[in-house]
Amino acid sequence: MHPLLEMARNRIVIFDGAMGTVLMASGLGPGESPELWNIEKPSLVMKIHRQYYEAGAQVVHTNTFGANQFKLADRGLSDKMRLLNMEAAKIARKACPEGKFVAGDLGPTGKLLKPIGDLSAEAAEDGYHKQADALFKGGVDLISIETMFSLEEALCALRGAKKLGNVLVSVSLTYNRTKKGFFTMMGEGVEKAVSTLEGAGADIIGANCTLGSKDMIELTKELRAATTCPILIQPNAGQPKTRSGITTYKQTPSEFASDAKQIRAAGANMIGGCCGTNAEFIRELARAVA
Ligand SMILES: [Zn+2]
Repeated sequence: MHPLLEMARNRIVIFDGAMGTVLMASGLGPGESPELWNIEKPSLVMKIHRQYYEAGAQVVHTNTFGANQFKLADRGLSDKMRLLNMEAAKIARKACPEGKFVAGDLGPTGKLLKPIGDLSAEAAEDGYHKQADALFKGGVDLISIETMFSLEEALCALRGAKKLGNVLVSVSLTYNRTKKGFFTMMGEGVEKAVSTLEGAGADIIGANCTLGSKDMIELTKELRAATTCPILIQPNAGQPKTRSGITTYKQTPSEFASDAKQIRAAGANMIGGCCGTNAEFIRELARAVA
């Protein structure tokens, strides 16, 4: 059994918080590529990882959310795909204390799959396969697919990663709350999403982003009812408020942490944070669920 799954059998596993919003707070400008900082400002990226580990995280995500070849192509960086992923993995590995873990982060392509869009499932799967390969070459312990709006695209990423062989893969979708329940942007409900991902070999099933910690309590109950897999939940720091182009999140670390206790009670095995969270949130979270 993978050592991370073994850890999750005995205790709640703490993941890191946001990378993107923390990079912005550290000076990343609008329109700048966060992934470029893996080669331009590696010490800053490493500092963020270290802060999360010190705050109590057992797992951090590499700074590669947008480092798939499709998103990089939009920024004219597709020739750097392998380099940016390998360097990101090395930075996180260097920051990682003995006995803790590095998750290679795979995010959405930013494209729509055929027949709605023009990206084929084969091309998406191949792109994710290459990204996951570079992340493992750089030293990650697992792959964490996250913030997926589409079950189909999540499946492409899962298949691409699993093509590497016997590797641990977590798949986390992002759900909206509607009057009829929780659905992805593409309209997939919890039960369908979970059974499809489990059937395709996902080792950890998750939900992240979009929802704050209150809504995540309910969603965790539904996920727990639908699967026996370990569950990873990473809420935002409440709902974002945008004023004159600047997005802020209103929740405090202690509110987040007290909801996290209920998320834990609802059946989550792994908890971290998404947009708007930082090391302070993770510190409070670790304290609250310990
Ligand atoms: Zn987020």
